[in-house]
Amino acid sequence: MAYSNNHQYKIDRETIERILDSAKIEEVVGDFVTLKRRGVNLIGLCPFHNEKTPSFTVSPAKNYCKCFGCGKGGNPVHFIMEHEQLSYYDALRWLAKKYHIEIKERELTDDEKREESMRESMFVVNQYALQHFCDTLHENEEGKAIGLNYFRHRGLRDETIKRFCLGYSLEKRDSFATKAVKAGYNPEIISKTGVCYTTDDGRLVDRFWGRVIFPVHTISGKVVAFGGRILHNNAKAAKYVNSPESEIYHKSDHLYGLYFAKQSIVQKDHCILVEGYLDVISMHQAGIQNVVASSGTSLTTGQIKLIHRFTNNITLLYDGDKAGIKASLRGIDMLLEEGMNINVVLLPEGEDPDSYSQSHSTEEVEQYIERNKVNFIRFKTNLLLDEVGDDPIRRATLVEDIVKSIAVVPNDILRSEYIKKCSEMLQVSEQLLVKGTAKIRMQHAEEQQKRSDNAAQQQSDSGNNTDEFKQNIINSYTSNPLHIKERGIIQFILKNGNKLLQVPEDKQNGTPSFTESVISHLHYSFEEDGIEFSNPLYNKIFKEAVEHANEQNFCPERYFMAHPEHEVSQLTAELCGEKYLLSKFFAGQNNDERNENAIMFEQTTRLAIAYKQSIVDDMLKQTMNRLKDPEVLANPAAMQEAMEDFKFLKETQRALNEVLKGYGFGNIAMNV
Ligand code: ATP
Ligand code: MN
Repeated sequence: MAYSNNHQYKIDRETIERILDSAKIEEVVGDFVTLKRRGVNLIGLCPFHNEKTPSFTVSPAKNYCKCFGCGKGGNPVHFIMEHEQLSYYDALRWLAKKYHIEIKERELTDDEKREESMRESMFVVNQYALQHFCDTLHENEEGKAIGLNYFRHRGLRDETIKRFCLGYSLEKRDSFATKAVKAGYNPEIISKTGVCYTTDDGRLVDRFWGRVIFPVHTISGKVVAFGGRILHNNAKAAKYVNSPESEIYHKSDHLYGLYFAKQSIVQKDHCILVEGYLDVISMHQAGIQNVVASSGTSLTTGQIKLIHRFTNNITLLYDGDKAGIKASLRGIDMLLEEGMNINVVLLPEGEDPDSYSQSHSTEEVEQYIERNKVNFIRFKTNLLLDEVGDDPIRRATLVEDIVKSIAVVPNDILRSEYIKKCSEMLQVSEQLLVKGTAKIRMQHAEEQQKRSDNAAQQQSDSGNNTDEFKQNIINSYTSNPLHIKERGIIQFILKNGNKLLQVPEDKQNGTPSFTESVISHLHYSFEEDGIEFSNPLYNKIFKEAVEHANEQNFCPERYFMAHPEHEVSQLTAELCGEKYLLSKFFAGQNNDERNENAIMFEQTTRLAIAYKQSIVDDMLKQTMNRLKDPEVLANPAAMQEAMEDFKFLKETQRALNEVLKGYGFGNIAMNV
């Protein structure tokens, strides 16, 4: 079943490079998408979003794929990560298997080993427990008579029971505990996973005794937890008992059924959210597979992020009684904030997704959802309107509440549509709602500004982390001109970083001509001026390139493409697949007579100077602002200081142009 060979070890660089060398993008994509040749490329229907005309392009030459509709793509590893929803290392393993490459794993440090082996062991225990519960259900007399019978009674077919790996835990209080310990599993680890617990007098007992078992899988198919349902309606015992939180199980980061639903969610670009284990399973059995459950709790941000990886569109499918949905209203505002498109479907009185999907055909269920889905904001408005009736004060509070929900919707068009609808429903003028939402949005923007100022502060205090990396990649695409220049330099380094350039003789200082690598040259040039890249991801790549610059056979593109950090390899694939950002800038300079090292020197120098000019421009702008600031204007000393800075920067600007002229490269005005 699940693709998981339970090891979490790091793969060594040599193996990663071998995998990348062997994996052909057209073969990897070709496993999932029908490709047709078009010129030098191949095209097909994008597997990541719904489309009728193919815009998914595969370039065998660049070993790179990209969808021009949704933007997804990358090298073979990135494609498999996205398509199979695997981690970087699991995607590499997937490819290694396809290309019959043996994986050599890197030695872990002692700390890594301890941590990995604890987590590892917990997964191993869970896997063993799962096998035990399944065997019990299918082979043990009590299991068959009670457990299997229960599931069949609930309308599940045997293939469904097998697919979801459902099981049974015997009535005897320690049947699993005893068996596992006898088989050599460590009691401490067994109780860490929560399958068993230790009583006050030190006995190890089964948590789920006398219950049917629903295993909870991670996205990649490993078992992290179990839910156990009681078989009889006994008011005293809880209907469900679930695994407790542990080192491997953080309840709020999992959604029941996601492992089985992910492919279908991506294909349909739509996720249906239900409440219970049995709702997910019955819907599946009815042929509707893009279904997951939050398992009784209200949605968490972690769970939303999980869904968001696969789609923007969520439909909440709930019982007809409105009590359940009221509890989750708060969680749903959070979904809106994430830019999700949310609809609500209520089932007829007395039905839940489980019962409804068992008594109707696939088409009927799909049609019911399609016909009865109500946009969430409208749903919420209706629900609350019912409640407040005509009381004007409560109505005003309601309007305020709805306005808050609308205000967090990031899309302008959607927002104004919601405003229109709600103005009708609430009988409040559109203008009033527009004003209300605008005010809240303004407040949010201010708060966010404050937060990001703080974050920027923290970043300069404490260095980088991965989320900031991602943010910075995004930023670099948008506005920041420094980031755009930095991106250009990184692209240049990936292509040419290991090439040699020839620094011409400097007659004034009496230094003769010499050669060095492009990376080293840039390194000294930036270090001299105390410059660091403002984008942490670029900075990281640059520093790592400098570290390796003097190694023989160091090839930046190859090295960073195989980088164990996903952000780095993704950016490398993008930059190497992209049209050369600098080609326009360097056009017409390739047909001269100079040797390659001299040309390399000119290109590198131009890049470095252009970047420095951007930095100076940036500082000039800030200084101009200071000169206009009333507080500075009122303070002669501050004014003096700002004037001097201004003068200095102007001189620097001139000096930078002089450098270029000095080499005979002329003045440049360029927009890379
Ligand atoms: P069934 O149809 O057999 O009653 P269900 O899965 O539909 O099962 P619901 O009562 O709809 O169960 O509850 C929805 C979900 O909430 C369950 O699947 C379970 O994850 C969780 N849940 C319900 N009751 C409990 C409980 N007592 N303790 C912990 N979780 C619970
Ligand atoms: Mn139910």
